[in-house]
Amino acid sequence: MSKNILITGAAGFLGSHLCDRFIKEGFNVIGMDNFITGDAKNIEHLKNHPQFRFIKHDVTEHITIEEDLHYILHFASPASPIDYLKIPIQTLKVGSLGTHNLLGLAKNKKARLLIASTSEVYGDPLVHPQTEDYYGNVNAIGPRGVYDEAKRFQESITMAYHRFHGLETRIVRIFNTYGPRMRLNDGRVIPAFMGQALRGEDLTIFGDGSQTRSFCYVDDQIEGIYRLLMSDYAYPVNIGNPHEISIKEFAEEIIKLTKTHQKVVYKELPVDDPMQRQPDISLAKKLLDWEPKVGRAEGMAITYNYFKGLTEEELYKSAHKDFTNHIKR
Ligand code: NAD
Ligand code: UDP
Repeated sequence: MSKNILITGAAGFLGSHLCDRFIKEGFNVIGMDNFITGDAKNIEHLKNHPQFRFIKHDVTEHITIEEDLHYILHFASPASPIDYLKIPIQTLKVGSLGTHNLLGLAKNKKARLLIASTSEVYGDPLVHPQTEDYYGNVNAIGPRGVYDEAKRFQESITMAYHRFHGLETRIVRIFNTYGPRMRLNDGRVIPAFMGQALRGEDLTIFGDGSQTRSFCYVDDQIEGIYRLLMSDYAYPVNIGNPHEISIKEFAEEIIKLTKTHQKVVYKELPVDDPMQRQPDISLAKKLLDWEPKVGRAEGMAITYNYFKGLTEEELYKSAHKDFTNHIKR
């Protein structure tokens, strides 16, 4: 008999890819989303699929599911700085109240729950690369604190349910992941640079571009999450690609990839923007026999092709405004 899985954030970037993966594995998938940052287009292809049903719901409100549930993936949350700075209270609520509701549901259904945590729990890290035993360097009262602390609380309450109620839980700490179905206007650096290239605009580097990130292609991320869910490990696990690059070098790569000869312009660095980020994935390698397979050149080419396929209206409707004003202290 097929197993049932609830995926929150199903209309989002990662959530929609997870729906596809679990359907492919033979699960009955219940997708849940309130569309606050997601897009129905991401799950349009699943509309009439016999293994899929969708519930429009805000997970910060009580959740009722009729079916038995075997697994729950909690991926609902604004995820890009521009989103969580625009909707800070919803961000705090989905990480805290939303997670509490899902833990209650998991307990009631005796389901295994995996929560989507983030490299942001390490804040602006003083340990490099970041290992799971690093406690982080987070400014709780800074503008990014709404996301970082919601995720830290989420991890904390999840471990409490695991220890106190014996609930089966998993925690994935996701590092910058990219690929098709990202929103062009979500302000994250990859859609931002690719959108600017497609519109013939200058690429906006925040700060001097010496800050680093390590980008993971979505298929690798989904594989890591799948393996973690099926493992028996309850503590946090980093999933990301350790190939680190500075934002300045990354802008140069995008200019080469898109062959559009744009200039770069420098803007103010957002408050508390982490200066370096690279996952230490030794634990995932050992526990899950997992490591990323898709290199940056290949993954970026696929992603750029996806954005090139957007309509003119989507490309311009999506043009994101300079949002640094939102993130002053
Ligand atoms: P996304 O914005 O594309 O997807 C999030 C989805 O959650 C959206 O469809 C949104 O409408 C939905 N949502 C938000 N609040 C909700 C609520 N209260 N009730 C119901 N639905 C709600 O973002 P994403 O990149 O797919 O991120 C998914 C998850 O992964 C998030 O929890 C995020 O924190 C985590 N994560 C992502 C990355 C990354 O690089 N993409 C990195 C670290 C962590
Ligand atoms: N960034 C940039 N220009 C942009 C968007 C982002 O230089 O147009 C920088 C941002 O300041 C950060 C990095 O790119 O240092 C990654 O930002 P993103 O929003 O993708 O995610 P983060 O890793 O900060 O959550």
